[in-house]
Amino acid sequence: MSYSSKHKLITTGLKLPVRLLLGPGPSNLHPRVNQMLTSSMVGYTDQQYYKVMDETMELMRYLFQTDNHFTIPISGAGTAAMETCVANLIEPGDNVVCLVSGFFSDRIYQMAVRYNGNILKVQKPWGTWFNLDEIKNALETHKPKLLTLVFGETSTGVRQSMEGIGELCRQHDCLLMVDTVAALGGVPFFVDEWKVDACYTGGQKCLSGPPGISPLTFSNRATKKIAERKTPVANWYLDANLLGAYWCPEFNFKDGTITSPQPLRKYHHTTPANLVYSLRESLVLLVEEGLDNVWKRHKEAAFDFYKGLEDLKLQPVIREVYDSADEKGGRLFSLTTVTIPEGIDGKNIMKFLLDNYGIEIAGGLGDYAGKVWRVGLMGHNANRGNVLLLLAALKDALTANGYKC
Ligand code: PLP
Repeated sequence: MSYSSKHKLITTGLKLPVRLLLGPGPSNLHPRVNQMLTSSMVGYTDQQYYKVMDETMELMRYLFQTDNHFTIPISGAGTAAMETCVANLIEPGDNVVCLVSGFFSDRIYQMAVRYNGNILKVQKPWGTWFNLDEIKNALETHKPKLLTLVFGETSTGVRQSMEGIGELCRQHDCLLMVDTVAALGGVPFFVDEWKVDACYTGGQKCLSGPPGISPLTFSNRATKKIAERKTPVANWYLDANLLGAYWCPEFNFKDGTITSPQPLRKYHHTTPANLVYSLRESLVLLVEEGLDNVWKRHKEAAFDFYKGLEDLKLQPVIREVYDSADEKGGRLFSLTTVTIPEGIDGKNIMKFLLDNYGIEIAGGLGDYAGKVWRVGLMGHNANRGNVLLLLAALKDALTANGYKC
């Protein structure tokens, strides 16, 4: 019997252009991280793989600045880690407050609604962040069991101030969930010190890794809430109980105690081993450089970029710039939104950069569509050389489009 197909069969290998990815993510892979993607596969019950899992979890605790035992990578994009928090921490009928002032904080809200909580959306205009009085007011009036916010909003370039929020949530017996997808590993963030109960990021931004593997951490307060649920977690793939039985079976969700020796790990799903290796390598790179130096490098690259924008007579959307270590909100160092000048078609500039320089930057989302460019200086890409190249390319693109720099 012969086999025939009416489908067009492709017989050539894939060849992709090399890009400098200076948009909101993904960013370029660090060469050492890239190499891990071709490392040999091992089975998910291999003792060698178990060792890699344990090491990766310990390295993630450094990334998050936490002692949380439940610190695991989610097999999926940042959105999967977001949904892991939402699915596990919201029970039907729970009061929840979602602070929304951008595309991704709204995504959390959209997701939360699907888990049948009693969700209050506290909305502010894009490009703004929340002060402590506004948060206190929401906590007092709605009495939520969970408060959600985005620390680094990639759609607006805003960094939310974390000062006092964790303490306030503890006073109101409320769990605090924070999205750090565009910031962690680039901007200072301290899960334990800031009393954050659920936090996640993605591999593909400040960690210079591939998308599809997303670090997540839950405090013992969060795992206790999960252990005491009256209803099963409505999402099987992302059920923390099942994930924990594979990643950290020694951990007791109810009281945070650790069983020794470690009970057998229970298979849940085939984890993407090469993505886990790559995440481990991203984190080793972070340890080698040291978080302080990594944060400093991101900040310096951002300030070099701000200075260059000024020279080009371009305006960042977010005017307030504060040192991120002082916990004030303002411009996010890892992602800058830039106002597209009057008379310029933002898409033409993006195309010029891509066609002539191989540089990718992005346009705006939602309220900012057609109004801003989004420039990411994340991970391995956050360096002066890339900033100078981008500024020169931008000048060329703007001049070619009739803008007087
Ligand atoms: N949260 C923020 C702040 C993001 O910037 C993104 C992606 O850009 C996400 C969540 C979703 O991550 P992913 O696209 O990996 O699902």
